[in-house]
Amino acid sequence: MEKPYVTTLRRAFGLFCLIFSCFLQGAESITILTTTTDLADITRQITGELAEVSSLCDGREDPHALTVRPSYIVKARTAQVWIRIGMELELGWEPPILRDCRNRRIQVGMPAHIDVSEAILPLDVPQGKVTRDQGDIHAFGNPHYWLDPLNGRLAARYIAARLGKLYPEHDAVFKTNLTSFLNALDVRMFGEPLVNCVGGAKLWQWQLAGTLDNELGKLPGEVKLGGWYGTLRPYAGVPVATYHRSWIYLLQRFQLSLAGELEPKPGIPPSPKHLHQLSESFKVKGVRVILQEPFYSPKAAELLASRLDNLKVLVCANSTGGGAGAGSYLEMLDHVISALAEALKE
Ligand SMILES: [Zn+2]
Repeated sequence: MEKPYVTTLRRAFGLFCLIFSCFLQGAESITILTTTTDLADITRQITGELAEVSSLCDGREDPHALTVRPSYIVKARTAQVWIRIGMELELGWEPPILRDCRNRRIQVGMPAHIDVSEAILPLDVPQGKVTRDQGDIHAFGNPHYWLDPLNGRLAARYIAARLGKLYPEHDAVFKTNLTSFLNALDVRMFGEPLVNCVGGAKLWQWQLAGTLDNELGKLPGEVKLGGWYGTLRPYAGVPVATYHRSWIYLLQRFQLSLAGELEPKPGIPPSPKHLHQLSESFKVKGVRVILQEPFYSPKAAELLASRLDNLKVLVCANSTGGGAGAGSYLEMLDHVISALAEALKE
């Protein structure tokens, strides 16, 4: 028969092992791989310390044309969750990574494959058949949707809901973090006094219904519109040109008008004939700004600016980590919106 102190020691050791394994399970963070830096930043805001989040794009490259590296496949092999923009943005590079990583868990259609485009309000959804001579048109609509802060909001809600289903034990934390992120976004969008007085959800409802200005008129005088919306409000209707058709969500949300793109068709570089036509139409419309990403050549924009008076070229990162002032998703929008307002000043 076993001596009593041996039994006690055996039990104590068993208990220690149980506690230790629970501790290890609890401490093990979720490995999340996103396709872009904006998705990574939004996801980090939701998971906090509970996940190790990394992005395949670093924010400085053209997200349509990422070159697949072996290290991406290694990362994808151990990822527990995959989050993508969707709408064919990653069409050129996601399929080989998913195929070669042989990670069944993150394949398209699996619960751990999160396509954020399922939750957003799309623009440019083509009517009828898409053909090659239309250029690099995306069959499901324009994939640059993260530049509308409302889509950033919808993306965050969707990511939190999907992660909550995958990890119900952390759902409460995801929800709390989501609330803080949405509040931070709403405050940047409309200004703190207005969000404190009315609430972010209501303000978005008014904005979507087109009744925001009218409703604001009914509020006490000291509660003024601020934030990004307040910053760009004086420029509603002002025409802005862009290099690629990647800023339409931002322009539409802030009611700026799109004067045209330097690319004659998406993905096709500017031709002399197209630039000539643009310089004529920009003159008529009084276009003051060409907005473009740092990874496109600025030559065509600079050529137009040299031909037309008062036309500025504004090079701005439109992804987190894509350049100065774009350290996070909200900072990136801050930077773009304040730079745009500055450039549009007479
Ligand atoms: Zn594009």
